[in-house]
Amino acid sequence: VRATFTAIHGKTQGGAGTIVMLQDVTGMEKLEQSRREFVANVSHELRTPLTTIKSYLEALEDGAMEEPQLAGKFVGVARNETDRMIRLVTDLLQLSRLDSKQAIISKESTIVEDMLEEAADRFSFQLEQRSIEVEIEVDPQVEDLMLDRDRIDQVLDNLVSNAIKYTPDGGHIRIHAGCRDKALEISVQDNGIGIPKKDLERIFERFYRVDKARSRSMGGTGLGLSIAREIVKAHGGSIQLESELGVGTKVTFTLPYQQEVSAG
Ligand code: ADP
Repeated sequence: VRATFTAIHGKTQGGAGTIVMLQDVTGMEKLEQSRREFVANVSHELRTPLTTIKSYLEALEDGAMEEPQLAGKFVGVARNETDRMIRLVTDLLQLSRLDSKQAIISKESTIVEDMLEEAADRFSFQLEQRSIEVEIEVDPQVEDLMLDRDRIDQVLDNLVSNAIKYTPDGGHIRIHAGCRDKALEISVQDNGIGIPKKDLERIFERFYRVDKARSRSMGGTGLGLSIAREIVKAHGGSIQLESELGVGTKVTFTLPYQQEVSAG
């Protein structure tokens, strides 16, 4: 830790003394560094699909176009990479709106059980294909809640899609809603590959992934958890992740039942 250091020596009635004042300058440096890293990451994440698209276009130009089957495959790759870039840019825009507090949170009364069931339904195809079972449990004391449905749906989509992505076929996902203090608490738990201890601390950072190649091949942008955290924060709640390698992962977030107007 670096800090500016000021020492004042003096004599008081009680005797000689020294007052030491420490001012943290590392906070500012860290912010600047993380900003630089972010720009470097964005550039890299956009450059990768662009480079792939370019090489496939060149291959088409160099003759692959004459072979319909090959050409179809190459166009397919280029399209997938384009989709990834669109997802990435959409996620980035969303993050920047949440960062600058420009995101308008419009809340509506929501039945929690319906919301969770609909979230699982959105993945029914993948779940069936991968033989992953989803169990939804809502404690009886859970009440309806005011929340931005689109945004909380996005949080749930990110968490459920992660649970599916990082859980082997035949796995199990449990979505639970209960109450804690004056908040609704929702958790999404899987029995998948888990996350190594050393990565846990950084897991909510933008673009942080345990395994970049795996995340990419699954279509991940590395922004899902950061977006989830910003949305939950905008609702006045908090989010945390617990995980054990080879055992599974549990992400829990809270949404306060009552909130000051300013947070909305
Ligand atoms: P991504 O788009 O890569 O999934 P996220 O921000 O959603 O990005 O997650 C960041 C990283 O955290 C992932 O790349 C993955 O390594 C890890 N991760 C997230 N959820 C899980 C989970 N349920 N099980 C195991 N690893 C996970």
